[in-house]
Amino acid sequence: MKLDTKSLRYLTPEDWRVLAAVEMGSKNHEIVPTSMIDKIARLRGGSSGVHKSISTLAKNGLIGRIKEAKYDGYRLTYGGLDYLAMHTHSQRDIVYSVGHRVGVGKESDIVMVADKTGQQRILKIHRLGRISFRTVKSNRDYLKRRQGGSWMYLSRLSAMREYAFLESLREEGFPVPEPFAQSRHTIVMSFIDNALPLRQVSAVPDPASLYAELIGLILRLARHGLIHGDFNEFNIMIQEQKPEDDDAQNGVGESSPGASIVPILIDFPQMVSMEHKNAEMYFDRDVACVKRFFERRFHFIATRPGPFFKDALATVGQDGAKRIDIAVEASGFTKKMSKDLEAAILEQQNTEISDESESIEDDEDDEDDEDDESDQNDSEVTEALDDNSRRDASAKEDKEESKRER
Ligand code: ADP
Ligand code: MG
Repeated sequence: MKLDTKSLRYLTPEDWRVLAAVEMGSKNHEIVPTSMIDKIARLRGGSSGVHKSISTLAKNGLIGRIKEAKYDGYRLTYGGLDYLAMHTHSQRDIVYSVGHRVGVGKESDIVMVADKTGQQRILKIHRLGRISFRTVKSNRDYLKRRQGGSWMYLSRLSAMREYAFLESLREEGFPVPEPFAQSRHTIVMSFIDNALPLRQVSAVPDPASLYAELIGLILRLARHGLIHGDFNEFNIMIQEQKPEDDDAQNGVGESSPGASIVPILIDFPQMVSMEHKNAEMYFDRDVACVKRFFERRFHFIATRPGPFFKDALATVGQDGAKRIDIAVEASGFTKKMSKDLEAAILEQQNTEISDESESIEDDEDDEDDEDDESDQNDSEVTEALDDNSRRDASAKEDKEESKRER
């Protein structure tokens, strides 16, 4: 689903309050009755116009009307949740303008945004839980039970988890984007510039050393108790770093003399602990993924076998390496949350596998990626999110909101 910010600027403080009321009501009501929206919005300082706001929001597709036998009410849509998150990022000066869409994953949208100074950042919108139920029955049943399957809950969990991992990894000096903020189902992080996903890199100066570096990262993650779990050519960005005075015009691939390439890891919601019951399978799969890619793309085959899970397991926590797996689990993730998210991600990965099998022959061309690029070109101009005049009017409201979010 595309992020659509068309009417973001035109919503009044009252509209925002009513939208937030629908969000609040949906925490324990699948359909939020109109009377409840009215009550929550008024409690938060609104007076009149709740119904007018409801109709504005519905017209813009931010809430959807649901007619039921028992009572009528509204549900927050993906668009509504997007708006609330963008509003928060904008009020906190994390995001000032929205640019083009950089990528679409099956379960995420990646959008270029910028702060007030024009510094580019990446907004990742998690869209988990548009579930197609293809996995084994036990997982399917698990997700169907109560909240486990709700898109809003799952997408938020996914963003929270990715943000927590990003923060810890960054702290430990891993080459990952810098995390700036998380709101609801979205995170904002630094834009990795002058880089391409490994998938789009046709040649590197020294495949052996890049291979060693990537395997080194897998082993370093393991020391911190972690397995990436999706360590593939889409989630490894290759950045070209120039020595000293850089003329940052060259893209990766047009190697300039003296430039070095650095892998940067992205995409972390699915990371698992080295102590996960299927850890060995995940670890081996990550390693195999690198090997397969290097053989196909660069015709490089490592002379040494491994690395092996058993050896990596023996290094967990070694030399005082911080156990990031434990730290993140302890940072407000209940067992149930982890289980819910894992089930949803498993569902997503299974869907991906069955989709990919249809296009395995054209693995070497980058059709999908090119589609995305053409998508961005016609919307190069960034769009300011908020009128400054509106900014002050809703500052008070946002303070309340940030209190609530914590
Ligand atoms: P998904 O979970 O949908 O796979 P990713 O986090 O892997 O999402 O991002 C999808 C794509 O978006 C990546 O392959 C990469 O091309 C681009 N991307 C994501 N994050 C960044 C970033 N911080 N800087 C530059 N490009 C990014
Ligand atoms: Mg990815």
